[in-house]
Amino acid sequence: MHKLNNATKLTDLSRVRSEHRRLGPTVAGVTSVAVVPRPASAKLTLQKVSQRYQSPHNGQLLALDNIELSVGAGEFVCIVGPSGCGKSTLLHIIAGLTHPAAGEVFLDGKPVQGAGTDRILIFQDLGLFPWLTVAQNVEFGMRMAGMSKNERREKARNYLRLVHLANFEDNYVHQLSGGMKQRVALARALATEPDVLLMDEPFAALDAQTRDLLHDELERIWAETGSTIVFVTHNVREAVRLGDRVVLLTFRPGRVKTEFHVNLPRPRHLEDVDVAQMARDIHDELRDEINKSLEAEYRHETHP
Ligand code: ADP
Repeated sequence: MHKLNNATKLTDLSRVRSEHRRLGPTVAGVTSVAVVPRPASAKLTLQKVSQRYQSPHNGQLLALDNIELSVGAGEFVCIVGPSGCGKSTLLHIIAGLTHPAAGEVFLDGKPVQGAGTDRILIFQDLGLFPWLTVAQNVEFGMRMAGMSKNERREKARNYLRLVHLANFEDNYVHQLSGGMKQRVALARALATEPDVLLMDEPFAALDAQTRDLLHDELERIWAETGSTIVFVTHNVREAVRLGDRVVLLTFRPGRVKTEFHVNLPRPRHLEDVDVAQMARDIHDELRDEINKSLEAEYRHETHP
């Protein structure tokens, strides 16, 4: 990740981002492409990644099938798809928390062998420790890594400032609102200075106003830190609001169905006409997959 206070970071970032824009032809701000050109500098590459699980009913379940995906340095990629299409599985594999049944993940061209501080996963239920203060939560990873008290205190302060929580460092988690807890989780993740932030439906449980605010904050932090983000959501508008690219997965087994380049100017808003239009286009493709997932659920209910 580009560290904070790195004077070159925004220039680098805009170069990478304009490179992405150059790679995709634009049609009214949206490009749906069958074959997506690889970004010039791939931060993350998934090659023929498949995953199987043991199914209680019919042997093995193919959750992901031959996923090919390349994410550029500093790119913001959103993954959408119906429930059960393997979005969380994909993030777990990128995080190195589970190994794929087949295929490989590369970070900066090197194969991912397991979990590492270069990738960090933020879940919807955050995993904050209620017995620690906000600052102690943010410092936790650094403490585990053996960083000195002064250094980790300084870093925690920097990242809490970045998420606008500098005045809450001595509070406990139960004293914070849902949106503030999200920002603590974000600060804790950023404090480990990962190259890649993996976010699994992080804002799904928040009210609309708080979510809007966090979209703005996340976009600002992304621009300031230069992180590469892979963001899973079932909310297509959210994906268009945030992403440089939206990757649509099919219902089981999860395959890359279509990639949409979002060439709309930033900052964007959920209510923007262009955002709504593009979300509708993606929804049209997603609908078939949702129908398949509902049919599968129905079949399972009638013939368990
Ligand atoms: P999504 O995040 O898109 O809802 P998941 O990645 O959670 O999808 O799951 C994909 C499929 O794999 C689902 O059918 C789910 O039931 C199944 N699955 C996920 N984890 C396991 C597991 N540990 N054991 C067995 N099946 C699993």
